[in-house]
Amino acid sequence: MRAEFLIVGQGLAGTMLAWTLLQRGRTFIIVDREEPITSSKVAGGLVTPITGMRLTLNWRYDELYREALRFYRHKERVLGRRLFFPRPHVRLLRNEREVEVWERRKLDEEIQAFITPLSGRPLVDGTRISAPLGGFQQSHSGFLDSAAFIESSRRHFETLGVYQQGDVSEESLQISDDGIGWEGEVFSQVVLCQGWEVARSRWFSWLPFDHTQGTVLSLRAETGEKRRIINSGCWVVTRDDGSMMAGSTYETRFDHPHQPVPGGIEKLESKLRALVRSDVEVLGSQTAVRPGIKRNKAAIGRHPVQSRIVLMNGLGSKGALRGPYLARKLTEHLIDGAPLEAEIDLQSNH
Ligand SMILES: Cc1cc2nc3c(=O)[nH]c(=O)nc-3n(C[C@H](O)[C@H](O)[C@H](O)COP(=O)(O)OP(=O)(O)OC[C@H]3O[C@@H](n4cnc5c(N)ncnc54)[C@H](O)[C@@H]3O)c2cc1C
Repeated sequence: MRAEFLIVGQGLAGTMLAWTLLQRGRTFIIVDREEPITSSKVAGGLVTPITGMRLTLNWRYDELYREALRFYRHKERVLGRRLFFPRPHVRLLRNEREVEVWERRKLDEEIQAFITPLSGRPLVDGTRISAPLGGFQQSHSGFLDSAAFIESSRRHFETLGVYQQGDVSEESLQISDDGIGWEGEVFSQVVLCQGWEVARSRWFSWLPFDHTQGTVLSLRAETGEKRRIINSGCWVVTRDDGSMMAGSTYETRFDHPHQPVPGGIEKLESKLRALVRSDVEVLGSQTAVRPGIKRNKAAIGRHPVQSRIVLMNGLGSKGALRGPYLARKLTEHLIDGAPLEAEIDLQSNH
């Protein structure tokens, strides 16, 4: 047996699982098609405590944020480059309903722990950013340079001799009593980390997936905000090198993974122009599909019947935050037999 695990797909899910298995001293081969555009390669990588129209604190945020930060800091040391950028995140309120919701939420102690008081300073420069209804500044937020994380991890895995470029079709996997065969090797488990394409899987297509297409823009604009993320219906991030990114759309119906739905980019651009008062020059766009799951926080674990086939999916728009935690939980499940919580266990959908 060449390795214990065959990981199919090197997006955020496969990459995080590979790192976690490495840390536990387990053997694996990770295979990826190397498509130029994937969810993990275009993602904003934002990690944000308070999100959504209801302005609620994300599931287990404090615990998951600490774990993610530890995980990325460790990979930065090994890979010799910065990957996670802590940044305050300014959330501007969009309508009277949000103002009303926020009036209640801000009294909540749990929420207060993630808000930075401004001590009399204005929230934003109103000549550059439109903020008629005010808002709040969040701490313990930032973004992962997910494309850099994928790319430098791949190079690291190549040096270790555990990475392979390729396409693992389900038909090419031969299940026997000894394990799962692929290209002349036998593995004890195959972990599918294929992103949204798992919807076509003969093993997992029964799961209630909720994949959404998303588009991000690269742009030039004078926001005066080099160190903070600004968000009001769309977010704007300025990277250390000055390049800017804005996103993103959420489309549940789409014909092609990488072609934005008609009017999708225009809708995002008009949100951006309503937020930023200066001229906005859009330089380009990228579109991909986020692998999501209905109701639950993720879908990980073994296939209910074929226990050698494992899934890590459903990271949705929280891949950068939840990925490290999910990779650890899945590893502990596969290696130590630790049970999975219902919120992330794919079998809770069975
Ligand atoms: C526009 C946009 C913005 C986003 N913004 C954020 C954000 O701000 N914060 C955040 O946390 N998340 C964000 N996300 C979501 C985040 O990107 C996802 O949670 C994450 O990328 C999912 O990773 P994954 O590994 O499951 O899937 P993917 O990234 O899709 O990776 C799957 C990989 O498997 C490979 N593959 C598939 N089938 C095979 C096969 N048969 N053989 C070999 N390889 C295969 C693919 O080529 C791909 O490389 C965003 C997503 C999009 C699209």
